[in-house]
Amino acid sequence: MALTNTQEREQTEFSNRPQPIDGKMGATIIGPANPTREAENPDTLVPPRADHGTMANLRWSFADSHMHLSEGGWGRQTTARELPIATEVAGVNMRLTAGGVREMHWHKAAEWAYMLKGMARITAIDQDGHTFQDDVGEGDLWYFPAGIPHSIQGLEGDGCEFLLVFDDGNFSEEETFLLSDWLAHTPREVLAKNFGVPQSAFDGIPQKDLWIFQAPVPGPLASDRVAGAGPVPNSFSHRMLAQTPIRMNGGTVRITDSSLFKASKTIAAALVEVEPGGMRELHWHTNVDEWQYYISGQARMTVFASQNNARTFNFQAGDVGAVPFPMAHYIENIGASTLRFLEIFRSDHFADVSLAQWLAFTPHELVRAHLNIDESVLAKIPPRKTPVVAG
Ligand code: MN
Ligand code: MN
Repeated sequence: MALTNTQEREQTEFSNRPQPIDGKMGATIIGPANPTREAENPDTLVPPRADHGTMANLRWSFADSHMHLSEGGWGRQTTARELPIATEVAGVNMRLTAGGVREMHWHKAAEWAYMLKGMARITAIDQDGHTFQDDVGEGDLWYFPAGIPHSIQGLEGDGCEFLLVFDDGNFSEEETFLLSDWLAHTPREVLAKNFGVPQSAFDGIPQKDLWIFQAPVPGPLASDRVAGAGPVPNSFSHRMLAQTPIRMNGGTVRITDSSLFKASKTIAAALVEVEPGGMRELHWHTNVDEWQYYISGQARMTVFASQNNARTFNFQAGDVGAVPFPMAHYIENIGASTLRFLEIFRSDHFADVSLAQWLAFTPHELVRAHLNIDESVLAKIPPRKTPVVAG
């Protein structure tokens, strides 16, 4: 019997779909399917044969996070509510238009940020009345310690988009202490008494919180300077992308922890670039969980969890990855362009152990007794002190 056009089209679509088939194992999906998502996660659909066992989910995409829209921008978060394994760190992806303000506020967690696109003006004061104002661009960081009040405003052009990282997986961007929210819940006579002015001075204050709102684009930074008790002793901003990268065959790494960015006492980070075909080598971390944010490219990460358990996850721009302490892992660039991602740690320092270094720096006789490998494998490993991208 001849196929109708619809049947033919369905059959073509079906044959183009990724299928859970690996040699003689598996079979086609004949029930409901989501081919787009299955294509995005080829190593979930057809796991590498070395994968085994049951593991917690280690991946979330900001594309699946609830969007909070406001006049002047938006925000969406990936917290322990979205990715339950990630209890140490939460992330917020935020956009501000030119002039758009994330209003003056503070919160219980410390805030670390990486500017993804555009420019912003950030302000803060510390507990001693020291002030901080800076303009930050792509690849710049900021860090506001817990409780320190601050603001962010998009600048000329198209404003900005950035990643915020908090040193608490249960942080919520909806539970911050907002200037407008506080004053809306403070009687006018108290405000009048506090500032020594008539109550009428506060007739214009907003009746509900602003969170993000549209304001005029500010003038040059120099004209926005407020002296206060002088500048904060350790700058709240840092030019991460301007750091000279550590170069390896397969890519580059920039590490920023409190040894370089002194203010950042609870968040350490690495910006990793892996060329096509290269990989972030087999390693693990000796201090805390790892939280990742993928900036560009396509990746595959396999995590070894001990007890026969290993699982592979796929990542692309806007995805978040998690690696519980001290699970071993590696990340391959499986795309045609440079893979760029951030490794984030709730720590004052970056710390990892490389498999290659471990083997090279252990008596070779002992290593060979374990693995039955040739001395030539060990001889090829260069001594090193920094994380390695293999190419
Ligand atoms: Mn904040
Ligand atoms: Mn790692």
